[in-house]
Amino acid sequence: MGIKENVKQILSELPPGAELVAAAKTKTPQEIMEAVAGGVRIVGENYVQEAEAVIQVVGSKVAWHFIGHLQRNKVKKAVELFDMIETVDSLELAAEIDKRCSQSGKMMPVLIEVNSGREVQKAGVMPEEVLGLIKAVAELKNIRVEGLMTMGSATVDADELRKNFRETKQLFDQLKQLQIPNVEMKYLSMGMTDSYKIALEEGANMVRIGSKIFGARG
Ligand SMILES: *Cc1c(COP(=O)(O)O)cnc(C)c1O
Repeated sequence: MGIKENVKQILSELPPGAELVAAAKTKTPQEIMEAVAGGVRIVGENYVQEAEAVIQVVGSKVAWHFIGHLQRNKVKKAVELFDMIETVDSLELAAEIDKRCSQSGKMMPVLIEVNSGREVQKAGVMPEEVLGLIKAVAELKNIRVEGLMTMGSATVDADELRKNFRETKQLFDQLKQLQIPNVEMKYLSMGMTDSYKIALEEGANMVRIGSKIFGARG
């Protein structure tokens, strides 16, 4: 099947209310346009420079989500290019995003990345540190927390991954109940090609899929 058909297939099987983010790292504008023709409305990019090149071609008919590791010196550009940053995992990064947004009068929706697998040297905040970070980020004026994102542990063990997703959903629900001002717990972004079905079963409402749309990365 081609890219367009892959997207249609995935969309037809997603539960109502679940959003598809086409994870498009290394993909060309032409490939992304094919995914858009299949119904993709959100594209995820991992690298600011690569994204800049494709966004120039594909444009704003889709929303652009940053899903990679964001370096401080790329924040200014990222704030110009993206509609959401899914990978905020420190107050320093949030403050930099806020500063750049205030300079351009923008309000940036962000997700907090949770290290749900509790793996050392992995991106994301530890689950028990998420509330503290969100409370601090909520004080910033030009950034709005709209949910959580997680990768889950790098394991191939489906039970372990399911546990990571389940705990992240519990955290998401707890945070929602707290009704922290300036925080809207709306999106729970978890699951990739090999894990999105488990993630949906565990309550994800946003999945980030690359290989199943575009084919395996070479
Ligand atoms: C590449 C990537 C994905 C998609 O991975 P696939 O296994 O190709 O579906 C999802 N999320 C992030 C953060 C990624 O970097």
